[in-house]
Amino acid sequence: SRDFRVVVLGSAGVGKSALVQRWVRGNFREAYLPTIEDTYRQALGCSHKAGALHITDTTGGRRYRGLQRLAIARGHAFILVYSVTKKQTLEELKPLYELIRQLKGNNPQKCPIILVGNKCDESPREVSEKEGAAYASEWNCAFLETSAKMNINVQELFQMLINFEKKPAAAA
Ligand code: GDP
Ligand code: MG
Repeated sequence: SRDFRVVVLGSAGVGKSALVQRWVRGNFREAYLPTIEDTYRQALGCSHKAGALHITDTTGGRRYRGLQRLAIARGHAFILVYSVTKKQTLEELKPLYELIRQLKGNNPQKCPIILVGNKCDESPREVSEKEGAAYASEWNCAFLETSAKMNINVQELFQMLINFEKKPAAAA
């Protein structure tokens, strides 16, 4: 199939599911429902005949490393999410980033990653926008701050992925 598989990774509670829900369903819930693994398919419109954006919303827990590894191995693009209110969640992305590079290789064109600082509506912050951007440039990936709650940059995030999908190099 022409599915383009996007994997959403990051620690528990950073808003991975909220971002996906916001984009797929257009809503937001305050209550926290832990995820094991959920998948979503969004058709990409008439120009992509049978194609769809396939989103895997993963869990942060160590118990599910095997599932995470499998999702990464099958993924075409990655969203690494942290919360700007919790520095630790940014640091916890490092092993995931390294695992992506290990499994998918070092070519950022073939394997796009977007670093996402979610909960930008909240204060106090522990991670500034500048600091997030510095990690992104070190990791050679795109960067966005988002709020699933206030619907900030959520469209832009998924649009970036759709643009990656359109470039044959990215989908290879
Ligand atoms: P996940 O474990 O990464 O999937 O996190 P969830 O999507 O379940 O969100 C965890 C908690 O953070 C929930 O209580 C959400 O309502 C809240 N949350 C998610 N995104 C945002 C956001 O952008 N801003 C704020 N203020 N809260 C958020
Ligand atoms: Mg979740």
